[in-house]
Parts: sequence; structure tokens; C-alpha cells
Amino acid sequence: MIELLAPAGDLEKLKIAIIYGADAVFIGGKEFSLRANASNFTLDDLIEGCEFAHSYGKKVYVTTNVIPHQNDKEGLLKYLKNLELAKVDAIIAASPYIIDTALEHTNLEVHISTQQSVMNIPTVNYWYDKGATRVVLARDMDLNEIKHITGAVKAEIEVFIHGGMCAGFSGRCSLSNHLTNRDANRGGCAHTCRWFFDLEKDNQKIEEVPFSMSSKDLSAVHEITDLIDMGVASLKIEGRMKSLHYIATVVQTYRQIIDEYTKTGMILDYQKYIEMLKNAENRETSIGFFHGLPSVDEQLFEKRSEKVMQNFVGLVISYDESSKLAVVETKNVFTKETLEVFSPYMETKYFKNEYMLDSNDQPIERASKAKERIKVHIPFVVHPNDMIRAKRT
Ligand code: SF4
Repeated sequence: MIELLAPAGDLEKLKIAIIYGADAVFIGGKEFSLRANASNFTLDDLIEGCEFAHSYGKKVYVTTNVIPHQNDKEGLLKYLKNLELAKVDAIIAASPYIIDTALEHTNLEVHISTQQSVMNIPTVNYWYDKGATRVVLARDMDLNEIKHITGAVKAEIEVFIHGGMCAGFSGRCSLSNHLTNRDANRGGCAHTCRWFFDLEKDNQKIEEVPFSMSSKDLSAVHEITDLIDMGVASLKIEGRMKSLHYIATVVQTYRQIIDEYTKTGMILDYQKYIEMLKNAENRETSIGFFHGLPSVDEQLFEKRSEKVMQNFVGLVISYDESSKLAVVETKNVFTKETLEVFSPYMETKYFKNEYMLDSNDQPIERASKAKERIKVHIPFVVHPNDMIRAKRT
């Protein structure tokens, strides 16, 4: 069965990713990770995250994919031993120093990070012969190349299917280092390629429209069936910095695509899944390199038309069937309006929000405080971790 692998920037996101259908999550610890400065995972969180995932029969991988300078090496073995202690299922690494240290001194499984830009059979086999069990292919490959490699190697193959692309070879770019003093290969990428630049000559703008050097995000809804058929082991969603709602939405969409294809051998209605993904706070998307070199349609040269929809308004904490009141943690402002409940346990349902109580049990017309635990009357059973959305365009 193919694995759906989801990102998780903190413990809450890890749990949501698993509850909404991920088979495994990848997280960053506070050290040796390309999102180290964004990670909220302490060792205790790692232990709790692994226990939670394993109780569902799911896995946790930890990114240790920095390219360390000489002075960054200190503490590596102790860190890896702690990951072993926490019972993580694998590390995702790019530097031969980190890979060798893990293989020689720990029992950790090693996955080769996309930062290694692996694009051919001998390189996959090289890492497999060294002891790595899985290789995450470079994102700059088409479906024929992926099929050719997957059919010819013993290593498990992991492929990115959704999320941000890098305009360089996965972090091998120093735009961020030059313009922000933040090292893209030591966890600091400022996504400088996504900024908007003016083109000037002799202090005169020579182009009215600002331009960006970024590619559109990847979205491989139509490619999942091919990737399953060719024997890819794991489908990876990018985005450890993304919100709880984004992770739930994207994970559930791909979960349903995989399950439908696995059960029926076909996908009846792709548009349904495309509409589901629109609920997530996506940037503009494209099919990346899957059908050959990207064209102008896969780039974001000009200011994009993206708009961030604030339609995730509350997270269900609990539900009392006798009073039909749900305790909801507020995420965005909402009023007495039609709301939908998005859930890992049932089809999306709608209700007219007519009765709400604030945290002091006083009736309110509008939920406007962030992270307040209020009560909302919902006429049908809802579950902890269901998400409430407003229909906004
Ligand atoms: S600035 Fe853009 S191209 Fe450079 S490493 Fe960051 S995401 Fe990649």
C-alpha cells in the first residue's frame, strides 16, 4: 500500500495529519533541520509524537537535512541518539556526514533527502548500498524518469506530490544567503525567489509590473494514479510551515484519491478533489516537472492572483449530544451564518449557526476573539478535531 506522507510543524499538526489520513509524518527537530528555526518539537514532543503516531500504526520521520559547515557538526551523535530514544522511524538526511554517522552509530533508518538531488539509478543504488532504505527523488523529474528508476531499484522511492517548489535544485541556491543573510541550506531560506522585484536601469524602472523568480506550487491530483501504478513507495506533501487547516485539507484530499483508486481502480470525479483542495490556503499551483520541463505556465513571473481565504473559523474540542452544544476553539471571526463541518469521520455537513455562547456562557452574535473556547449549537453530532468553515470567496 502506498504511503501518504504529510508535513507537521508542531505536535498539534502531527496529530491532525494522522487523524485526517496520513500514513506517516515528517517533522523537524530543533537541530540539523532545514526548518530548524520554525520547529516546535522538543525531545518530549518528539517522544509524544512518536507514541501518538505508533498508536495509530503510523510513522514519524525526522528531517536532519542541513548541509552542515565544519562548525555545525558538534552534537550530531547525541542528537541522533535522542531521536533513536524517541523511537522515530527514520531520519531524512542529505549530508554524507550525517548519513554515515546515523548508519554507523545508530539503528535509525535513513532516507536520502531531496536535497541530494538524486535523479538516476546508479545514485539511488549508491545510497541503497550504503544502507539507506529510501530515496526521495529530486523534484525536477518527469513521470517517465520516475517510472524508469522506480522499476529498476531496490530502494523505496519517495516523490513530492504537493506544495512549494524551489526555483533552485531544492535549496541549492544562495539568493536567501545574499539578500537576507539567511542560509537556505542551514534552515534559513527566506523564499527570496518569491519576492517581487522591480527591473531598473539607470535608476529608472524599465518594466512597470514587478516580477518574481518563483515557480508555482506543485499539485499532482491527476498524477497520483500513475505514481501508484509505477510502484512509488511514498507520496509526499510539502509544507511544515503550513497551517493546521491546510494540512487537514490537503491530507484528506490525497487520502481520498488514494483510497478511491486503490478500491475501484479508477477516479470517477477529479473535479471533486480539485474543489476540495481549493479550501486550503494554496498559492497558484501547476504540475511542476511531471510532464517535462516547465513552461511559462508553471512560473510566477508576475504578481499572483492568490487570495488567502480565512474560511477556517473553529476547531471542535468536544460535543455534548444532549444539549447539541459543541465546544469550539475559535480560529477566525464568524457570525450567525451558514457554516460547514469538515471532518475525518463523515462527509462535509452544513448548518445554520443560530446560537453561540462565549467562554462565560453569555449569548453572542459574533465570535471575534482568537483562540477563545466558545459553545456553538450544532444540530448533528460532531467530533473532536472536526473543523468548522465559513463559505467565503
Ligand atoms: S530562495 Fe527560492 S530558490 Fe532559493 S533556496 Fe529558497 S525556495 Fe529555493
